Amino acid sequence: MGGNTTERARFDVCVVGAGFAGTVMAERAASMGLRVLVLERRDHIAGNAFDHRDEHGVLVHRYGPHIFHTNAPRVSDYLSRFTDWRPYEHRVLAEVDGQFVPMPINRTTVNRLYGLTFATDAEVQRFFDEVAEPCAAVATSRDAVVAKVGSELYELLFRGYTRKQWGLDPSQLDASVCARLPVRTSADDRYFTDAFQQMPAAGYTAMFERMLDHPLIEVRTGTAHAGESERGRVALLVWTGPIDEYFGRRLGALPYRSLRFRLETRATAPGVLLQPVGQINYPEAHLDYTRTTEFRHLTGEPGGHTTIAYEYPCADGDPYYPIPRPENRALYERYRALAAAQRGVVFVGRLARYQYLNMDQVVAQALHAARASFGSRDASRRRRGAPVAGGARVAGDGGVRVPGGGGARVAGDG
Ligand code: FAD
Ligand code: UDP
Repeated sequence: MGGNTTERARFDVCVVGAGFAGTVMAERAASMGLRVLVLERRDHIAGNAFDHRDEHGVLVHRYGPHIFHTNAPRVSDYLSRFTDWRPYEHRVLAEVDGQFVPMPINRTTVNRLYGLTFATDAEVQRFFDEVAEPCAAVATSRDAVVAKVGSELYELLFRGYTRKQWGLDPSQLDASVCARLPVRTSADDRYFTDAFQQMPAAGYTAMFERMLDHPLIEVRTGTAHAGESERGRVALLVWTGPIDEYFGRRLGALPYRSLRFRLETRATAPGVLLQPVGQINYPEAHLDYTRTTEFRHLTGEPGGHTTIAYEYPCADGDPYYPIPRPENRALYERYRALAAAQRGVVFVGRLARYQYLNMDQVVAQALHAARASFGSRDASRRRRGAPVAGGARVAGDGGVRVPGGGGARVAGDG
């Protein structure tokens, strides 16, 4: 278990998990002069964003294709300290009845599926107004879709995909799940419209290596932390694993959805692409995978091989997706109450907050939690009118104080 708890006491902060949440917290703590120990159960850093070269030299993402996009300049500015970028706009086609249509639903989707020739937003909006089935209150993912585009498009493009992905009907999931996809009247066929859409030029793992490359950070991979039972004497513990695991699942297990990935590699002429776009979705029930993604679209790598990832949703396996529905949120809230009562433990990230978050949202959450826990050099400078000499200190009571006052607070929920 990565050394005993006494040995760990020589660190100011122990971070559990080396994904985005843990790595941002570790980097920020070290930047404030704190000594940080990072424990990661897997044999590598970068969490679910981990990428590596396969046996053919193709850069692949082990835990499913990850596309970076954000509207938050503070997130892209922060990460830009550790990586260069490669512009990439993600596009997705869904295969229905043997034809390929853009997702999210846009003007082209409607024209192709219905043999129409709409040329303006207004025409498409009139079409949506005619087919939409307004709901008094949009509560579920079914409501969220039929209220905008009606039952037929819902059945064609959402119901089957969602039942495969989640093992649940859209009517059993919060509206927020399917509402991740907008509905467009324009012909814009990009999956995301965020201002910043770029991939780390040398990959995610290389970016994480640079974030963790600090003399005050020690990383131990292949090392699990047992949670509350192993709390120990380190002044501040940052937990980015599943929140129910921290508490030994004593209130019951929070449900997560998992995936199995199958990678198919083919020899091609350099730069040749097998898919017309980065991702193809398969909403039809007769296929047991949900989507295929060709990494070469994302990475732009030439090479003599191209690799496509198939995603097969499943109940058992790594906890990839919190499942947004009322009963799960209620159980999470009970764990959150336990977390709030923990002294000197900060819960950050997708698993620790049981929230369906994208990478940029996790970075934003971690930057916020880091400011609350460690303060920030810029803020200290402004307060003191001079550079911080000794960096941050961890107080014996489990709180973290920044010389010059103010900054530090350790909260159960960041
Ligand atoms: P994680 O990346 O899960 O990191 C947590 C780490 O903690 C893991 O490495 C785990 O091994 C470690 N850990 C857990 N418990 C312990 C323990 N007890 N002891 C030691 N270590 C422990 N987001 C996007 O923005 N764009 C995308 O295209 C995108 N695609 C995705 C595709 C898939 C298939 C999935 C599952 C997610 C995708 N995401 C995407 C979301 C993205 O993966 C997350 O937002 C982000 O990785 C969450 O970071 P995290 O640090 O909270 O969690
Ligand atoms: N979805 C769907 N059909 C699609 C794409 C998405 O029904 O073609 C639904 C499905 O429930 C999915 C959710 O919308 O889980 C969110 O999609 P997103 O692409 O954001 O999922 P992620 O990339 O997080 O797996």
